[in-house]
Amino acid sequence: MEVRLYNTLSREVEPIVPSSQGQSLTFYTCGPTVYDYAHIGNFRAFLNADMLRRTLEASGQGVRQVMNITDVGHMTQDSIADGGGQDKMQIAADRLREAKEAGTLPKGTDIDPSDPMAVAEYYAQAFLEDAAALGIRVVADAQSEPELMPRPTAYMPQMIATVERLVESEHAYVAEDGVVYFDVQSFPEYGALSGNALEDLRSGEGGRVDAATQAIKRHPADFMLWKPDPEHVMRWQSPWGEGYPGWHLECSVMANALLGDEVDIHSGGEDNIFPHHECEIAQSRSATGAASFARYWFHTRFLFVDGKKMSKSAGSVHTLRDLCDRGASPAAVRLELIRTHYRSNANFTFQGLRDAQRQVARWHRLRQWLVENGDASIDGPGPLQQARESFMAAMCDDLNVSGALGVFSEAVSAWPVDAAPTSGSGPGTLAGELEALLEMDAVLGVLDLRCEGGEGDIDQNHVAALIEARNTARGAEDFGEADRIRDELLGMGVAIKDGPDGTSWTRVVQ
Ligand code: AMP
Ligand code: ZN
Repeated sequence: MEVRLYNTLSREVEPIVPSSQGQSLTFYTCGPTVYDYAHIGNFRAFLNADMLRRTLEASGQGVRQVMNITDVGHMTQDSIADGGGQDKMQIAADRLREAKEAGTLPKGTDIDPSDPMAVAEYYAQAFLEDAAALGIRVVADAQSEPELMPRPTAYMPQMIATVERLVESEHAYVAEDGVVYFDVQSFPEYGALSGNALEDLRSGEGGRVDAATQAIKRHPADFMLWKPDPEHVMRWQSPWGEGYPGWHLECSVMANALLGDEVDIHSGGEDNIFPHHECEIAQSRSATGAASFARYWFHTRFLFVDGKKMSKSAGSVHTLRDLCDRGASPAAVRLELIRTHYRSNANFTFQGLRDAQRQVARWHRLRQWLVENGDASIDGPGPLQQARESFMAAMCDDLNVSGALGVFSEAVSAWPVDAAPTSGSGPGTLAGELEALLEMDAVLGVLDLRCEGGEGDIDQNHVAALIEARNTARGAEDFGEADRIRDELLGMGVAIKDGPDGTSWTRVVQ
């Protein structure tokens, strides 16, 4: 089945085909900058890229995916593209130093906050753990092939060589302040991805960048490739002095080094379209001379929380860790983050997360039930087997995930999970249903993830004592007290269930 996808560059839905038939598709995903824990907005972009990859694979198409881990070069005023503001790694180091002094570093963490590479490494590891918990496939691939998750600090000679090539070919120049800039007027297609005309950028950018910098650039949209700065927290020797690279350079250089001059698919969040991806195209094509840098551009719209932009001050910049501490499972977080079409803004809510947690629990029970009853005969292909084709058709149609989830959920709810199956007369078996369930889940990527909520700071002994007190109250027919204790437990994020084997409890997301 052919996968069709909206291409930001052509502004059309197009069939995805590799540049040479029978080859794997090459896929570059702009990864995280590791100066903090990745938040759920970042993960929405990475999970959509992962789901695109899974859909392509399920359609029979091989994919070679690279996702960078940025450990250098991001400044607080990146969007102005001149290396302004403070280095974000320095801010992270300061934050970790404060946490270390206050004794609030996570348990088992022993890092030296004065070493920026140690800070980057700390957050890189945290990212890899979170991304693995969320089932992002490239992380698993990178265990045997580490270059699939490259770090720019390991590509400094290649970045410097690219800047040299751009200067030699007059696509870049060294300005009065010693900074190397890319000359956007030397690349006539600058603006084709984002739809920004150079003329508009001339009037629009001027006000955002300080006048002194503007005066030395040939065009306000010219962007930095190398900045000499012997004081900078992370710096390397270069022909233009000790300093650091511009933040667009790394992705161009690593994509070309690892996947070739022309990449098939390139992904990121919508904010990457301009300036990041526009600049990547300009510098890569000017350096390699290739007719295109990436043939398909895949961008995920932003995630909102409770209908608003995520914000630190509103406490809505959630991480996987926080959500697990609040009782969520990685499986539920994944489902909540993938269920909205990538070209719409998604809205994260705790109610949505609770619903996802319930759904995932049902899917897990069904898998178990199908495993236990695999030999039972059914009359021909069951609902899951019948759903397979429409599920894939929806996913292949520009990743229509809500359509696919609708088909999947309907088929899942057709089976009971709490009773023995009623035997049909064949020729199908429940093993066939299990196979169909797993096949569809290979695209959704949920069933292999942990489906229990984290325990957070819940004290198990305290919970056991409260359950015991409630049972004593019930034994004494003091139902008012028993209900009060149940509510107290619920307030702590603990839901209890009375069964033949006594009272069990699970975490609820709160
Ligand atoms: P960063 O670590 O800041 O470079 O961001 C990593 C990725 O997350 C980029 O592709 C961003 O476009 C994406 N991103 C950042 N915030 C959000 C958000 N709220 N929703 C979706 N994607 C986001
Ligand atoms: Zn990038």
